[in-house]
Amino acid sequence: MQLEDYIKAGKIATEVRELVRKRNCVGKTIYEICEDVENEIKKRGGKCAFPVNVSVNEIAAHYTAEPNDPIIILDSDLVKIDLGVQINGYIADTAVTICNDGQLNGLIQTAEEALSNAMSMIKIGVKASDVGRIIEKTIKQHGFKPIANLSGHSLEQYTIHAGRSIPNIWSIGGFTLAENTAYACEPFVTTEKAGGFVRNGKIKNIFALNSRKKTKNDEADKLLEYIWEKFNMLPFALRWITKDWEEKKARELLEQLINKKSVQAYPILVEINEQPVAQAEHTFIPNELGVTVTTL
Ligand code: MN
Ligand code: MN
Repeated sequence: MQLEDYIKAGKIATEVRELVRKRNCVGKTIYEICEDVENEIKKRGGKCAFPVNVSVNEIAAHYTAEPNDPIIILDSDLVKIDLGVQINGYIADTAVTICNDGQLNGLIQTAEEALSNAMSMIKIGVKASDVGRIIEKTIKQHGFKPIANLSGHSLEQYTIHAGRSIPNIWSIGGFTLAENTAYACEPFVTTEKAGGFVRNGKIKNIFALNSRKKTKNDEADKLLEYIWEKFNMLPFALRWITKDWEEKKARELLEQLINKKSVQAYPILVEINEQPVAQAEHTFIPNELGVTVTTL
């Protein structure tokens, strides 16, 4: 584990997240927001660990801008901005929710409080299910619901979801947090009227390499190599490819790579009752001192 790189990535992610929190995104397009946030990461010497997610209202996660995406943020929108920074593949994953509609502030405050309560109980040997318990308890105390089928995750070099889950509800079993392992904790909060679950949406605009196996189509294989060189196994967006590839061609080849299962496409995640969702997220590493929250 490269602690130094985790700390560097965390510092950049924190700075950019706080910049986002202060900026007014109303009237901007999702495209402008994504490009802007990604440029702030690069300016500070970081690389994007995944395309910035800008997920609005009932979309809980996994929306990023299409090339020249025209969707504009409205005054009443609840906007989750989830960003990842990597240094040599060591990742900081963090998120903030912003909204101009005071009525939705409770959801945001509750997500932040659940995350902060979770962070204060972290030490080596704590059970992930107990972290889930404190998150669920905090959210329910405020009369809201956690999203039960979204969770935090362990992180490894060039791997965002490295096998372990940090749940947002209490559940039987689970594992205990290990020393010098990086994890992300990310409570998702929704209303009392919500189902408290997400389903896959139709839109898919985040992708990642599944395998480097050749497809026997020269052009598709060229794109495959391009993706590997630029993004390794980490997620990417079409608008990252269209910097170097013509859009129509890129879409066509990407479709082929998806059909050959060389590339995976991730659907957006939508609350089942279409209720608004707020999110907060930190990356942390348990150690002999207690915990280092790299994105604090
Ligand atoms: Mn995230
Ligand atoms: Mn995450």
